[in-house]
Amino acid sequence: MQTPGPDRLAVADAVVEVQDGAITAVHDRSTPEGAAAGRRALAEASERVELAPGTIVMPGLVDLHIHAPQWPQLGTGLDLPLERWLFDYTFPLEARYADLDFAAAVWDDLVPSLLAMGTTTAVYFSSNHAEATTVLAQTCARHGQRALVGRVAMDHPEGTPEWYRDATASAGVAASAASIEAIDAVGSPLVEPIITPRFTPACTDSLLEGLGELAASTGVRVQTHCSESDWHCGYALDRFGVSDPIALNRFGLLRPRTVLAHSDHLNADETVLVSQRGAGVAHCPLSNSYFANAVFGVRRALAAGLGVGLGSDIAGGARPGLLGVCQDAVTVSRMLEDGVDPALDAAERGVAESRIDTVTAFWLATAGGAAVVDLPVGLIEPGRRFDAMAVRTDRPGGAIRLWDDIDDETRAFEKVVRLATTDDISHVWVDGSSVKP
Ligand SMILES: [Zn+2]
Repeated sequence: MQTPGPDRLAVADAVVEVQDGAITAVHDRSTPEGAAAGRRALAEASERVELAPGTIVMPGLVDLHIHAPQWPQLGTGLDLPLERWLFDYTFPLEARYADLDFAAAVWDDLVPSLLAMGTTTAVYFSSNHAEATTVLAQTCARHGQRALVGRVAMDHPEGTPEWYRDATASAGVAASAASIEAIDAVGSPLVEPIITPRFTPACTDSLLEGLGELAASTGVRVQTHCSESDWHCGYALDRFGVSDPIALNRFGLLRPRTVLAHSDHLNADETVLVSQRGAGVAHCPLSNSYFANAVFGVRRALAAGLGVGLGSDIAGGARPGLLGVCQDAVTVSRMLEDGVDPALDAAERGVAESRIDTVTAFWLATAGGAAVVDLPVGLIEPGRRFDAMAVRTDRPGGAIRLWDDIDDETRAFEKVVRLATTDDISHVWVDGSSVKP
């Protein structure tokens, strides 16, 4: 089962041929020719995996926004405003990643945990430390997770604590450049660097400018947070005289394949600008509910041609598995459509035509996210890499119940996306290699 488009579910009984990690053919067994080709492929295969009836294969999940060092604080402090959450919880924890033993222990727990949940591609903010960031890249390579890994650059004397920041803008740019080389030197085809200014309030103009130049000279992707909250938007207007995305564009950071986390406050013109620059959005519905003062309008963004995927935003979102985040995306879209204040008339309460369903949510979590970062994953079709997961729908004690005379394919898909737990995900593959069990 997979979603080739935001409103299209495709279901097939198929034989998938994989060579050196690439999908070379998909034989649909519902046709006589497809069934025959599938039998031939199985007979000739050097290795085959046959899955039990009741097991559904789907593309692996692409999580566009994860703060790896915040893994130990998952589930805590989410009643605080963002600034206190950052200064009381996040920055003191992230500062600890100067200790490489601590970093290695956390990464070694985080990466396999996410793989077990079906996150085959992870886009990581690491900490401010180049060494710990290299170890994160090595950990992804060792466990076989496809990943973009970024050392967090931040130097602003007001937006960051004095004990956790780059000493100067030039030191920050140099450390990010060195981190790109160190991640490239890991030598894994699965792992690439990504330039990562934390967000404009944490970075001086010189640092943002320097990182924009670094992106232009290296072609390395960029990620940052954009227009997340009322405070963030007001801050950008006060400091730059223009909105956050326009400032990012002036610093050369809105580029093809740039990942902008959140961006729920983009207006129509800014949405067009981000889209025209080839950048996309990591929609993080759960953390937005805590910190963003608004719901990102997925439907409006897609209608404007903007690339959108999903992010867990660990640990601003307390749900690490992206299937759960699909549920959150559906939930918040319905709250946006209906509105939430019963004191208002129904007609004035919400934003019409905002709701998305599980098909759109799963598309965001797979093909949509893959398109934002331009990686050949997110769909099981020839030419893409085989990143996939298998979900059991008949596991004794499992979360999914399918009823023969009730559940058609669409309902089965909805149940998998809404109900599957980590234990129901029996197999995960990245680049054709098994990473679970
Ligand atoms: Zn974030």
